[in-house]
Amino acid sequence: MALKSGAIESERDTGNLDILFLGTGNATSSEGRAHSSFFVNGQYLFDAGPTALQQLKKSRINPGDVRVILISHFHADHFFGLPFLLLDYWIANREDELHIVGPPGIEARTEELLELAFPGLPVRNKIYRRRYIEIDDGVNGEVEGLEFTAFEVQHVPSLRCFGYRTRIAGRTLAYSGDSVVCPGLLSLVTEAEVLVLDCSNDSDPVHLTSRDLITVMANAPEKATTIVSHLDDSSTAAGMSNVLVASDLGRFRF
Ligand SMILES: [Zn+2]
Ligand SMILES: [Zn+2]
Repeated sequence: MALKSGAIESERDTGNLDILFLGTGNATSSEGRAHSSFFVNGQYLFDAGPTALQQLKKSRINPGDVRVILISHFHADHFFGLPFLLLDYWIANREDELHIVGPPGIEARTEELLELAFPGLPVRNKIYRRRYIEIDDGVNGEVEGLEFTAFEVQHVPSLRCFGYRTRIAGRTLAYSGDSVVCPGLLSLVTEAEVLVLDCSNDSDPVHLTSRDLITVMANAPEKATTIVSHLDDSSTAAGMSNVLVASDLGRFRF
């Protein structure tokens, strides 16, 4: 689909990757951090925890600029921000299509969550279309200038979880979602120029730890840049060589 914004078009031409971290915390908002979520090139939102809308507005970004939302898994810190975003779109009379990419069941889960959160709201949605793209392991696609391949990763036994390898403005960005070291994650990071990885302390059994980062980064290209987010403690990855530690509303340009 064609991009409409001239500003974004020119950004694509120059091949910039602009990553704004809306939140960098875990599910319990450790250290007061907002839930882990990042916004790329002014239109692609990776995960949507309950603080996503708040952080977009704090950044003076029009939430309506979000054209594609990629959901890694259905844990609340990655998914429960959708009702607030969709409420905002309803109030703002959004007209542009919104694409929501996510695990199997993404459409039913999102619409049920919206009905649970704000009863009656979905039936009033007459103005813009929500288009859902259901992923599975190995599924790839293209939407609004973003190419993606989904990789199933291991996080918790009760839920299917995915990471994404994306191509944006000619650049390759890989996002782990929540994961432990697993074959899917190790495949995901190959070819990536920029990695966004979750990172917890070394006793966390369901997330990457600082020790795991070494294993994961060894599978990525040597020149790849690694950024850690979804932090439980800012000291977790401090001092690690070749690792950038994200902070709320921190921005990286590559
Ligand atoms: Zn999480
Ligand atoms: Zn999770």
